[in-house]
Amino acid sequence: MSAEPDGPEDRLRRFATIWSRAVFPATSTSLTRPEFEELLLPLARRLSEALRARTYDAAEGRAVGAALVEAHCTEPEALSRALDCVDAYLVLYCGGDGRQEDLRARAARLQSAMAAGYAEALRQRTLAEQEAIARAALEAQGAVARALHATEARFRAVFEGAAIGIGIADLEGNILQVNGALLRMFGVTEHTMLARCVTEWTHPEDAPQVWRLYEELVRAEREHYHTEKAFHRPDGTVLWTNLTVSLLRDADGNPQYQLALMEDTTERRLLNLRLRYEATHDALTGLPNRTLFFERLEKALAAGEGQRFGLCYLDLDGFKAINDSLGHAAGDRLLVEVADRLQSCATAPGEMVARLGGDEFVALTTGPDTESEVDDLADRIMNALVTPVRIDGRELLVRGSIGIVEGPAGERGPAEVLRSADITMYRAKSAGGNRYEVADAEADARAITRHGLTTALPAALDRGEFFIEYQPLVHLGDGTVRGAEALVRWLHPQHGVLGPDRFIPLAERTGLIVPLGRWVLEQSVRQAREWQRRHGGTGPLRVNVNLSPCQLTHPGLVQDTVEILERAGLAPDALCLEVTESALIGADDDLLKPLRRLSEMGIDIALDDFGTGYSNLANLRRLPVRVLKLDRSFTQGMQQFPADPVDLKIVEGIVSLAHSLDLAVTVEGVETGAQAEQLRILGCDTAQGWYYARPGPPERLHELALVDATG
Ligand code: C2E
Ligand code: MG
Ligand code: MG
Repeated sequence: MSAEPDGPEDRLRRFATIWSRAVFPATSTSLTRPEFEELLLPLARRLSEALRARTYDAAEGRAVGAALVEAHCTEPEALSRALDCVDAYLVLYCGGDGRQEDLRARAARLQSAMAAGYAEALRQRTLAEQEAIARAALEAQGAVARALHATEARFRAVFEGAAIGIGIADLEGNILQVNGALLRMFGVTEHTMLARCVTEWTHPEDAPQVWRLYEELVRAEREHYHTEKAFHRPDGTVLWTNLTVSLLRDADGNPQYQLALMEDTTERRLLNLRLRYEATHDALTGLPNRTLFFERLEKALAAGEGQRFGLCYLDLDGFKAINDSLGHAAGDRLLVEVADRLQSCATAPGEMVARLGGDEFVALTTGPDTESEVDDLADRIMNALVTPVRIDGRELLVRGSIGIVEGPAGERGPAEVLRSADITMYRAKSAGGNRYEVADAEADARAITRHGLTTALPAALDRGEFFIEYQPLVHLGDGTVRGAEALVRWLHPQHGVLGPDRFIPLAERTGLIVPLGRWVLEQSVRQAREWQRRHGGTGPLRVNVNLSPCQLTHPGLVQDTVEILERAGLAPDALCLEVTESALIGADDDLLKPLRRLSEMGIDIALDDFGTGYSNLANLRRLPVRVLKLDRSFTQGMQQFPADPVDLKIVEGIVSLAHSLDLAVTVEGVETGAQAEQLRILGCDTAQGWYYARPGPPERLHELALVDATG
């Protein structure tokens, strides 16, 4: 044994040897095995190169498949042996140092291409042969009168040499003559065959019309027919054929014989089954894939009255983290293990499990009682995941979130059902994962509108569908309008006017909040300048603009704000930026820096919704804040008279603390005169609420301010 490691050429040769050994017994070639191996070597090289080529080329695989047909690898078995061998050895011997997963995936695709090339070449060859035979048979018929002997000889040559089965019988069905190919197809001797009658060759899978067509032909009511037909072989196997039967007439036109031409399609059927299997199953886990699942779901949803379906849509929790930290190979093994466990959860008739892709699986149950069954199924799945999965000596905890959809057949389509399951699964995920939720139409509708709004947001800004309403801020001491808060709205073409609570969170999640926030700031600053210009001497009107936490971390915030103020010609102290209290809880210096810069420039910063979060009062001193906006919940406590004494005490405490820190206090949500009076007594500085005005167009504010100034 040599100590030298094999070079790539040796390994390629080794592959070709194994390949030829596997396939040779299933060929009808006249070559010896070593000659056959020489024939396969260039094909092996082609596969090897295609395996490692930078881009995948299906044509290579197809060409190899076609070459196998040319090399007479056309016996049943030949293709599957060739593919099995490629499956088992190609990557091993020809993979070089490429990534195993990539190589395996490529090898699988090459196999499919080979199978396709093979099937096509076989079909072409058979067609060509069939055509030649048919032509010869026709010529034979027509030539009887002219040159009987010459034709007879030619016909005999074609008859014997054809790869296609040919048989002649009389009109009673007695078989008179068959060629070698037909005998090989059936695996019988000529003697046995000639002793049989055509009508004995029935098979349970015969199409209903087959024997009717036969009767018509032998009664000379038709000239020929074509069908797909199965036959029993004496060894118990089934032969599938493409069968063409023609009526032969004598020189005077009287019906005399029937001529059958048959092409063996058994292998092609098997190949189709295999291709169908590959097209409907997931290569990694062997589970049914999305295609097959959709077929089954469609069938379940189209089932008749009284039938129901139940669907569990499973997505693993934190699978990405496992993939990222332990590598894809470990991730793949985890998926295989999960697939096995799921499979064992759905074994009853009417149940199936499929992998939709990635870490998403579905389990389907059908029948009349899925209402209770689907919950059981989900329980079984959750239980199956409880035991940790061992991979590379590690115990991995697997958790999943399941969305359940259950219902009667005949109401919804598969896409709708799957979408609902998907939405519900996400609901389970956002509730913390490791649980299942059951679909409900209202939650679905909400999620769908939310999704629709999210996708429509960017265009809405471009199309100018947003507008701003202003709500006055009133001085509690003298009742004058001191400014207004800008509140954005979306005039949606279908849903009408939407409040910020409907779309600001979506804009924050998609990042659109930055351009949207900048637009609001621009508009509001320009509006404030406009008020001042019109309002003249009676005290400057200021504007409050809300800032989202995302805007705070955006690097352009300070620069943009400065530019916007300068362009409009508004003094910085006429602008107040409102930041919610929760955004600043635990904020570090980096986050506060832009706020500090803005504050140093003279812009006021207000702490919005104060009191709703966890308010660390001691923390207030650190923040560059000049105004506290007390949340609406405090004012609500003062609606009744006399007001809740505890609420009063709290507000009083906050106000005095704020004042001692030099902070002004604004209250939100003032809806009655009594509340306003109470808050004034408690020392609040400004107020905002429906008692004064609802948010409205900018002109309204102008009127209010004028009324104050003159009234
Ligand atoms: P907020 O800043 O606390 O705004 C006050 C909210 O209270 C507004 O709701 C206003 O219409 C409502 N309100 C005013 N007076 C009363 C009252 O007397 N009673 C009651 N029950 N409610 C009153 P709106 O306009 O729906 O705004 C909701 C939130 O959306 C705002 O809360 C603010 O956080 C956010 N928001 C609004 N515009 C913008 C914006 O341009 N950018 C950002 N980032 N957020 C915005
Ligand atoms: Mg606000
Ligand atoms: Mg507020």
